[in-house]
Amino acid sequence: MPKYNEELTKKVKRRAKYLGASLVGIASADILNEALEEDFRPEDVLPGCRSVVVVSLHIPDGALEIMRRGVSNYSYNLFGYAYLNRELDFLAYRLSNFIEDQGYATVPIPGRNCSIGARKPSYGMLSFRHAAVAAGLASFGLSGLALTPQYGSRQRFLGLPTTAPLTPAETIMTPDKVCDGCLECVAHCPAQALEIKPPHVCKIGDVSFNFARAIPSKCRIMASGLSPKVWPGAKFNPKVEVPVIPEPTAEEVYHQLWTQRDARLRVLEHSEATFGATNCGRCMAFCSAGHEAMKKRLKDSEKTSGYADDNVLAHDGRIKPLIPKPKELGRRLLGLS
Ligand code: SF4
Ligand code: SF4
Repeated sequence: MPKYNEELTKKVKRRAKYLGASLVGIASADILNEALEEDFRPEDVLPGCRSVVVVSLHIPDGALEIMRRGVSNYSYNLFGYAYLNRELDFLAYRLSNFIEDQGYATVPIPGRNCSIGARKPSYGMLSFRHAAVAAGLASFGLSGLALTPQYGSRQRFLGLPTTAPLTPAETIMTPDKVCDGCLECVAHCPAQALEIKPPHVCKIGDVSFNFARAIPSKCRIMASGLSPKVWPGAKFNPKVEVPVIPEPTAEEVYHQLWTQRDARLRVLEHSEATFGATNCGRCMAFCSAGHEAMKKRLKDSEKTSGYADDNVLAHDGRIKPLIPKPKELGRRLLGLS
């Protein structure tokens, strides 16, 4: 009997595209079981898991382009995060029902993928980024984000573990296909939350990756809008500095979010019923892989109309061209030179 069901694989991929997925691929559960640590592996979520169906949704470039120019972060908050997660949930719900109807167990994991009681806070049941790399859709950039040739940093992923014997990706994409080592991600992180010395090292299949170690406690301060250091010069920059608590309890986090933060953020969040009205995203917005991928798709990219120029918000509140920095260090960290 063949190991994989090629016909079913095609059906699942077709259905994902029909439902609106920007990209779809299949990761081998064996490869992810080996790459990920205990409690966060596909087999921990679904015993007997054979495959992980990975889908992505592209974040509209305009949402990130107006944010990096300091015009507004509202489009990103919704169409790059809060509402986009609902769209991922739509895919998770419909695709998992579809695969179950074919006779295979499947777990729909919500787009936001945060588990209360997880052994490691800020970790979901399954790393969608690792799943995207194992599915051959993406490779890790130095930021630690999973970057694709089509959209660079500008997408969100979702993974569905299933017992269906789907045909997995044959090759894992190496980082040089998507990341040029420009280090804009690290330079634009307002929390210095992306530490590259030493980098985090991981292996998926036969490919090794070096990327920044993200420090969730530092990132949280900016992503939750607790500091005016997140978007200096932008109108939407929070105005209130909330005192940092090294390891806050859930009650203390709640107090920070709903009583101490800049009231403008709290009001906006209530009206949209979303979480995180600042939700940083600078490492994604300033990633040159995302900006360059967009330029390739823009029909008028040879002119400097639309968003094809490299302008970004500078700390003095003015819009200036982004000056590229030398790439030697980034390329060395990636293991490219
Ligand atoms: S989301 Fe913001 S604070 Fe967090 S790592 Fe990215 S740039 Fe840094
Ligand atoms: S900003 Fe540059 S170094 Fe960072 S992930 Fe993107 S392409 Fe790679």
